[in-house]
Formats: sequence, structure tokens, C-alpha cells
Amino acid sequence: MAEPLETDYLVIGSGIAGLNFALLAAEHGRVVVLTKKQPDDTNTNWAQGGVAAVLAPDDSFEQHIADTLTAGDGLCDRDVVEMCVTAGPAQVQRLLDAGVRLARAPDGSLDLGREGAHSHNRVVHWQDMTGREIQRALLEAVARNPRITVLHDQIAVDLLSMAKYGGDPACFGAYVLDRARGEVKTILARATVLATGGTGKVYVYTSNPEIATGDGIEAMRGEGGVLRLATGETFMEHYHPMKSLASRDIVARAIDNELKKSGADSVFLDMTHLDPAFVRGRFPNIHERCLGLGIDITRQPIPVVPAAHYMCGGVKTDHDGRTTITGLHAIGECAFTGLHGANRLASNSLSECFVFGRRAALAALDEPLLGATAPIPGPPGESTGTRSGGSCGRTSASSGPTSGSSARAAASRSCATRSASTTSTSRSRAT
Ligand SMILES: Cc1cc2nc3c(=O)[nH]c(=O)nc-3n(C[C@H](O)[C@H](O)[C@H](O)COP(=O)(O)OP(=O)(O)OC[C@H]3O[C@@H](n4cnc5c(N)ncnc54)[C@H](O)[C@@H]3O)c2cc1C
Repeated sequence: MAEPLETDYLVIGSGIAGLNFALLAAEHGRVVVLTKKQPDDTNTNWAQGGVAAVLAPDDSFEQHIADTLTAGDGLCDRDVVEMCVTAGPAQVQRLLDAGVRLARAPDGSLDLGREGAHSHNRVVHWQDMTGREIQRALLEAVARNPRITVLHDQIAVDLLSMAKYGGDPACFGAYVLDRARGEVKTILARATVLATGGTGKVYVYTSNPEIATGDGIEAMRGEGGVLRLATGETFMEHYHPMKSLASRDIVARAIDNELKKSGADSVFLDMTHLDPAFVRGRFPNIHERCLGLGIDITRQPIPVVPAAHYMCGGVKTDHDGRTTITGLHAIGECAFTGLHGANRLASNSLSECFVFGRRAALAALDEPLLGATAPIPGPPGESTGTRSGGSCGRTSASSGPTSGSSARAAASRSCATRSASTTSTSRSRAT
């Protein structure tokens, strides 16, 4: 069995949630970030609309909260909604501090876009490539940080826990498949973070890059796009007073209903009544992508169908990204925090990743240090191995506040119960 790697924080996922957590956790210890493919192969990279936050003088937290609760159709956790919405402006500042470029209005203030089901303009963006810009800036910040190691083409295949062997159910790392080598290795960590994103790819129609019609739905309705039938007639007025600006669940059900009534393959999102220069400037990515498919969106409507876009649900967490398993946290689209309810309000996801990434990073400081002597089971397909233990109260060069009182107290608890450790000589440190 290959020697295990050891780190303080193991982050599974290199999207906005994982990278944001990694940057914050690196202030307190070593971080390993895993990604299935290349670091920018993420949903984050495809986010178009932007990040919702109350920044306009005529907007208010109450209105953003009300819009979120309405979109969630009664299933949101109001406390979480209030927490995320009120934290929104500070998260936008953190994005700017991280080097993310955001579009500016002529007077120099942040340009605020509008999206479906929002009562006000409150979406900061970078053209229609906000996610790509966030991904770029965060990856650059991570690359500059010597405490963070990004391992690409690595698939976490199972979580490390002695629970299945009758021991401590706490999570202390993961088994990871190195795709290039075809080997499974063990990564030990005091805190393991699921930041693995959503499930869109299991559906036939998703808003991922291969389905061009989905790419436009996110922000274009908010900027004046109108949904029409193949005949040119509008139909959303029959479903909701906000018409084409209604929330996605309503729009998706309305389109589905119209397609079933008519037997047509799609309805159309029409931007042709808008100034072509505005459309090209605001949506350069979508414009180019559709041109490649033979559709000039300044002159022709875009065929659209309902598509899987976002996973509402996931691993249930508390307000600090903790799961019910000690040592295991979940943030981003893979987590169920209670913010979204039945339907996510547009552009609330990226800010949720930022808000919960920060809270989870703080909460992870309380995770115990890695434990002492004991055997750990080998990766799937291998026999159980035994290693002698290192010091339970070890401090690393980057331990900083993690060697504070709460972590120390937890560490002693961990020594008694955890069984994953290696000697200091046999450790492969991950930074
Ligand atoms: C087309 C599109 C437009 C969008 N527009 C917006 C928008 O304007 N505003 C907004 O707020 N939201 C938007 N969203 C939603 C938003 O982009 C996502 O919810 C958010 O980026 C999720 O971030 P994440 O970090 O949780 O996951 P992701 O960015 O999807 O990252 C998941 C990571 O997990 C890794 N991973 C998964 N499984 C494993 C494994 N087993 N082992 C190792 N690594 C693994 C992946 O490789 C990847 O690195 C949009 C989504 C799409 C698809």
C-alpha cells in the first residue's frame, strides 16, 4: 500500500466552495485540494449571471430575503436566508479583495444586473462569465499559497472512518484514486470537506456546456429576454404576474406544460428587441457560443427547454457546514444548508458558497489533530495495514491557531478514539 499523505484539511472539490475554504483554512494549517479532472473543470467555471447582494440604495435585506423565501416556496430555513443575505455585501468585498474583476457602471460603482424572481437589480457580474472570473482569481490565489496543494485528476472514492470496522465514526480523510496511475491512496486529514458540487450530469438536459440552449437561461431573462412559442406568441402571462421574469421552477413548469400541449421540441428565448450592442457587450460568451451553433441572438430567438441546473438538497449541514459525522464538513452545491428551499433564487449559490466556506473554515479549526498509534484499513482491494503512531499533539509549521485550546482539547479526545496515524518518518507531507 502506498504511504499515506497527511494534511490538516482535505478539501474535495476545486470550485468556489472548495477554493474559498482552502484559502481561509490555509491561514491555520496545510490544505490539500482534490479535483476530479483539471482544477477549473467545475460548475463554478460556468456560472454566468453573477453573485446576488444588496448593494443598491433602493434595495434592502428585507426584499432580498423575501425574494429568496418566495423562490424557495416555503421550504427555506429563514435563519439561514437572513444569515446569507446580510452577509452578501461583505462577500462581494471579499471577492474584490481576492482579485475578482466585477463590471462597473459608468459612474464607477458596481454594475448591478437583474435576474429572474429578483425584485431589484442586485447581481454583481463580470460580463456573462462571472464564474470563470471567480475561478481564475481563486486558482491564482491558491497557486500563490505555499500551504495549499492542488491535486488534479484525483477522485475521492470513499471517506476514511473506522465506523465500518466497529470503531470511531469520525471521518479522518479519504481514499483517493489517482486516475493517471490507477492507484488508490490514503489521505489523512483532521478535517475533510465535501465541496463536490451538484448532479446535473445525471440528467439528459443540463445547463452544462454541451447543451447550448441552457446556457442562456440564467441571466438573459433578467436583462429583458422574453419567452415565446414557436408562433412568436408570449405565454408566461398565463402562469405568473412576473411573466418571463418569474422564478425558474415556475418558468420550467410553464415551458414543460406548453411543450406537452403543442408537442414542440422547444420554446424560444427572444432577445432580438434589445439593443444588439448591449446584448453583445453583456453576454459575449453566450453570443459567441450561440453563433457557433448558427444562432445570432441579436437577430434570432434561442431555442430553450427545461434543464437540470442546480441541485437543491444534498448533505445536510448545520449553520457552520458541519455534517452529523465528526470531522466531515460539506459546503457549496453538494450541501443542504436550508438556504434554497424548493428552488434556488438566481445568483444565490455563489454567495452561499462564500458565506458557508468561511463559516466552515472557522468551524474546522475545532477539529481534533490527527490521532496516534493504530492500524488503518487499506484502500479498497488491499489488506489492512498497520503503522506505528506519531505524536498526537504534533504541531506543524502551519499549525498556528489550530494548536489553540479547543483544538488541543479535541486532540486528546481524538487520541483516545482515532486510529489513523503514521510515524513522522513515514509521513508524506502534502505541502
Ligand atoms: C451554466 C451555469 C450557470 C450558473 N450561473 C450561476 C450564477 O450566475 N450565479 C450563481 O450563484 N450560481 C450559478 N450557477 C450555480 C453555481 O455555479 C454552482 O452552484 C456553484 O459554482 C457550485 O460550486 P461548488 O464549489 O459547490 O461546486 P463546483 O464548482 O461544481 O465544483 C465541484 C468540484 O468537485 C470536484 N469533485 C466532484 N466529485 C469529486 C470526487 N469524487 N473527487 C474529487 N473531486 C470531486 C469537481 O472535480 C470540482 O472540482 C450556475 C451553474 C451553471 C451550471
